[in-house]
Amino acid sequence: MKLTITPIDLKLKHRFTTNIDSRTVQHSHVVQIEQDGLIGIGEATAHPFYKISREKILEEGKQIEKFLTDKELTSPEEFWNQLSPLLPDNRFLLSGIDVALNDLYAKQRGMPLHKLWELEIDKLPLTSYTIGIDTLDVMKDKLKEVPWPVYKIKLGTENDLEVIQALRALTDVPFRVDANCAWSNDQLATLSRKFKDLGIEYIEQALHPDKKEEIKESMSHSVLPLFADESFKTEDDVAFCCEHFTGINIKLVKCGGLTPAKRIAEKAISLGAEIMIGCMTESSIGISAAAQLLPYTKYADLDGALLIENDIADGLQIEFGKMSYGKGNGIGCRIK
Ligand code: MG
Repeated sequence: MKLTITPIDLKLKHRFTTNIDSRTVQHSHVVQIEQDGLIGIGEATAHPFYKISREKILEEGKQIEKFLTDKELTSPEEFWNQLSPLLPDNRFLLSGIDVALNDLYAKQRGMPLHKLWELEIDKLPLTSYTIGIDTLDVMKDKLKEVPWPVYKIKLGTENDLEVIQALRALTDVPFRVDANCAWSNDQLATLSRKFKDLGIEYIEQALHPDKKEEIKESMSHSVLPLFADESFKTEDDVAFCCEHFTGINIKLVKCGGLTPAKRIAEKAISLGAEIMIGCMTESSIGISAAAQLLPYTKYADLDGALLIENDIADGLQIEFGKMSYGKGNGIGCRIK
């Protein structure tokens, strides 16, 4: 197999700010794996919070290029098991490669990946549209600019309640909020009560993942469902998160690709937890890959490609929150 990694800069339509970082460009990388004339594609973004830089992706990519060069694809699982120890602290690149291998594997069999997995796709959930942190006026304008059936609002500001009250005055559609690790259990108790009355469906990552003892108590402080995002990274976190949260936010780049993500979704469901399928700011390649997992969930947050100006691929189609798979086999995505 021949691995190629191409850096791309995704330009954001608006500056995207959370209480963790703020940017106008998202560094990403197109991962392509070729065998016998078929090409599997994947995507690996860079991310400061997870300490994944472009340099790290390109340098470690060279190692994997050598590793794959004299090998033929057997199964994505077998390769994931071999690649995972080679990229111990680079799940973002591991994900890009694993997605490309899954895409190639399904293309070799002439099938869309979700069909190969025998998943029912007749009832896909709606995806939320994210409103990042900004001044109240800008947040209101952003919401008015994109009419949508469900929004995710980034919080962790000085005036979270005021933000939600102001946005709620503009629309009755459901909101989900993402505190991005900013709250304490006391804040969670107060805000969750107020937010319940304001039509919030659930809260994502209220407390910082390092506050494990407080997290263990957080469910008793909240009247709303709680989803783990920063607390949930890999398969090792499934048991803790399914016990102390209502559900987990599965993102391919955090857990290392579709192969572990599928296992995680099935494990979480078997433990009685909810799952949501999320994304980073990424192109339609990463989004079309994550969308293969949609049949597992009621909650999707796959608006990443809608936030960028120069999407480099055609894949998952999204219209007013409603999603439909792109044409073609594998992850149903092609580079423009
Ligand atoms: Mg989040």
